[in-house]
Amino acid sequence: MKYEAVIGLEIHAQLLTNSKVFCGCSTKFGAEANTQVCPVCLGMPGTLPVLNKKAVEFAIKMAIATDCRVNNKSIFARKNYFYPDLPKGYQISQYNEPLTQKGYIDIEVNGEKRRIGITRIHMEEDAGKLLHGETFEDEGFSFVDLNRAGVPLIEIVSEPDIRTSEEAVEYLKALRDILVYLEICDGNMEEGSFRCDANVSVRPMGQKEFGTKAELKNINSFRFVQKAIEYEINRQIEIVEDGGKIAQETRLFDSNKGITISMRSKEEAHDYRYFPDPDLLPLMVDEAWIEEIRGTLPELPAQKRERFVKEYGIPPYDAGVLTATKELANYYEEGVRLFNQPKVVSNWIMGELLRLLKEDNREAKECPVSPEKLVKLIRMVDAGAVNLKTAKEVFEEVYKTGKDPDVIVKEKGLVQVSDEGAIIKAIDEIINANPKELADYKAGKEKLFSFFVGQTMKATKGQANPQVLNKFLKERLGK
Ligand code: ADP
Ligand code: MG
Ligand code: ZN
Repeated sequence: MKYEAVIGLEIHAQLLTNSKVFCGCSTKFGAEANTQVCPVCLGMPGTLPVLNKKAVEFAIKMAIATDCRVNNKSIFARKNYFYPDLPKGYQISQYNEPLTQKGYIDIEVNGEKRRIGITRIHMEEDAGKLLHGETFEDEGFSFVDLNRAGVPLIEIVSEPDIRTSEEAVEYLKALRDILVYLEICDGNMEEGSFRCDANVSVRPMGQKEFGTKAELKNINSFRFVQKAIEYEINRQIEIVEDGGKIAQETRLFDSNKGITISMRSKEEAHDYRYFPDPDLLPLMVDEAWIEEIRGTLPELPAQKRERFVKEYGIPPYDAGVLTATKELANYYEEGVRLFNQPKVVSNWIMGELLRLLKEDNREAKECPVSPEKLVKLIRMVDAGAVNLKTAKEVFEEVYKTGKDPDVIVKEKGLVQVSDEGAIIKAIDEIINANPKELADYKAGKEKLFSFFVGQTMKATKGQANPQVLNKFLKERLGK
């Protein structure tokens, strides 16, 4: 029998506000333990939470970006449970009446478009962090760091619309890209500012009802999401094939072994005793504010991808790669602005630049080569000054040394002719040998300028100094 998986993701994203969601403490990551705390986030009796408006704004931004409805009224609720990283004994969250709900995003997997529904996006606060003894001399002790307690989170709950582990990863990546584009979350899975729980069940192909789901926790990379889900699907299929029943439970992913392990069954599941938090008024959001926030939304990854295909005529694949981050997209657009051959610029970035960045484990925003320098090199190739192979070598040098491409070309022994007399002589010969192009150019076909540059470059065996050449060519062509 063939089986189909049903998957729904619950994603927690830490919001990039400066201060926590119900107090003024800093949210900065990596500070010394328990230095960013106050009576409110320590859960002292008699303190009162005050909602951070920026956190609400960020949550609304995400809602708009995922076509969710923003409710004019929502309720903060207490989710009660005991754990040492939760000083109040409850987490402030939203339950029956969340801030936003009923949205979707579109993803594409193996050329197939899929729409994944978003059930709700609600606001809540993060808990603290436990540090267990192994990392300390004090083995056997556990420590609590409450710097994270009260950091604003949004929880994004998907519909059970996902069918494969690849779709789950695509959905997750798409959501993270949106959050990062919106600059409301840094999307760092390793540091835990973007976390994912995966609900997985299987059912025989064609069956309508869902199977019993297991919830997978503790998955902290995209690769692990894929691995954990795949393992879990196979585990469940085996049980069903053997005539067994799937237990509804929470399972932990063990990344070393690549397996999931039972953590607690449904019977042990918490009864959180949700109730409206009496310390917080209902959150009222008016349409005017929603519209104001809508107006501040930047172009999102999907829109940018579409625009790149339309505006620059590059393949969708290129557009996807180039819009992976805002910084890379900006880099590309600046490159095209300086040198208007979009596919050529795309090839350089996708081929050379991204290869070097990847080897270096760097992001586009840490790119050591400016678009100006890249374009300088592209122009040299375009003008026939250096061939493509040499140019790629030169590019690596530019990347490693930060030097100008022309400087490197000189150093590499591709010494250019800067002798003005020789260049002028070459220019005159080319102009005389191409009367038709000269006439066309004078008649306004300005593109032919690069033809003359190229020809003169060839005549000087690619060694003419482009600046000198340009200067005299302009003079000779009468411009
Ligand atoms: P719970 O109350 O156990 O958290 P919810 O109904 O709130 O369950 O759903 C939590 C997540 O699990 C959602 O993302 C939802 O899409 C997903 N989900 C619900 N039922 C199933 C199922 N049978 N198989 C896989 N995922 C499911
Ligand atoms: Mg759940
Ligand atoms: Zn505080």
